[in-house]
Amino acid sequence: MNHFTYRKRVLHAEEVPLSAIADAVGTPVYVYSTATLRRHFRVVTEAFGSHPHLVCYAVKANSTLAVLKLLADEGSGFDIVSGGELARVKAAGGKPGKVVFAGVGKTADEMAQALDAGILFFNVESPEELELLDAVARSKGKRAPFAIRVNPNVDAGTHRHISTGLKTSKFGVPFEEAMALYTRARKMKGLEAVGVDCHIGSQITRTAPFKAALSKVGGLYKELKAKGHALRYLDIGGGLGITYTSETPPSPEEYARAALSAVGDTGATLIFEPGRVLVGNAGLLVTRVLFRKKTPARHFVVVDAGMNDLMRPALYDAHHGLQPLVQRRGQEVEVDVVGPVCESTDVLARQRKVVLPKQGELYALMSAGAYGMSMASTYNSRPRPAEVLVDGDAWRVVRERESVEDLWRGERP
Ligand SMILES: *Cc1c(COP(=O)(O)O)cnc(C)c1O
Repeated sequence: MNHFTYRKRVLHAEEVPLSAIADAVGTPVYVYSTATLRRHFRVVTEAFGSHPHLVCYAVKANSTLAVLKLLADEGSGFDIVSGGELARVKAAGGKPGKVVFAGVGKTADEMAQALDAGILFFNVESPEELELLDAVARSKGKRAPFAIRVNPNVDAGTHRHISTGLKTSKFGVPFEEAMALYTRARKMKGLEAVGVDCHIGSQITRTAPFKAALSKVGGLYKELKAKGHALRYLDIGGGLGITYTSETPPSPEEYARAALSAVGDTGATLIFEPGRVLVGNAGLLVTRVLFRKKTPARHFVVVDAGMNDLMRPALYDAHHGLQPLVQRRGQEVEVDVVGPVCESTDVLARQRKVVLPKQGELYALMSAGAYGMSMASTYNSRPRPAEVLVDGDAWRVVRERESVEDLWRGERP
């Protein structure tokens, strides 16, 4: 469900024609819909009904301050993976008391910042990390609330680059070793065990892998409680997929029903860490056609957005829908839509049937709200895109386009 629709052949974000934004702000530009973001958050949090739960939006999916602020205003918590993300959450008005902190490589500084901020808990991913967290907390005379991120060895059935719950993955502590680690942590004065955590991957489109993982970690949670650990939280991670083309992921309601059937009887407050499902279909990337170029093998459309602006196709072979901002009738041809970056992987859309555009025409790459701008780089010394947030018939720039001077800030020729 999103609020990007054609009206009289013109693609709109809510009430605003996207071409008006492109003409005013230039291209490439990311555009997000307030109504879609709000709706997604509400559907997800309401799916868990009256069961005690907290939605902690996974900041890495889209860490733009305006997006974080909108979700904070809805009551969202946040799942962070760095000190930088914690700073963003605070700058956007998010409550540190609703923050959980994951990641295999937290530094002592990042741990100290999070302890000072008073986050809800740390999701610890190794024995050495646990020891460092204990030491940092003791040096401050504090106890660090933590959960162990357990690797349940479950195949999420998604792209191998975004699977995190297999035993060959760098993430989490092997399921079989988790119990012993909780026992060890009991003797550490700087720690307080408050929960169990898992996250098995991203863009998951079936409920079975979630169920398999959750019944394992739910069992562990109950065992730990029986042994006297005063746990309160079961963090079930994120990973719920969205529709890019023809995927049919479970709805938030189906997902929540599966989660509650697996772990609803633990008595734990459930923490859910959705990223993509909240923001993915709430954003798109608008780009302008520079050139058409025909070779014996292919018809290329060269646009002004590249893999540095939207990395997912190059990184994961990801598919983004391609839609003209103004629909035109005409003969369809099969094209590859490519960016200006000097890499063969800079293909934003492969073998798509379109009415051959004219130079200067505008396209939207759909479902680009998640892992779009947050993964953008300045490769080829290309300033990153501007970002716009639409709300009804109003819109505003929420991040200015970077300038080339921004790119060399701090450099010393
Ligand atoms: C990336 C990540 C998420 C969010 O994943 P989505 O697929 O975007 O929902 C949640 N939790 C952790 C620990 C993550 O690393």
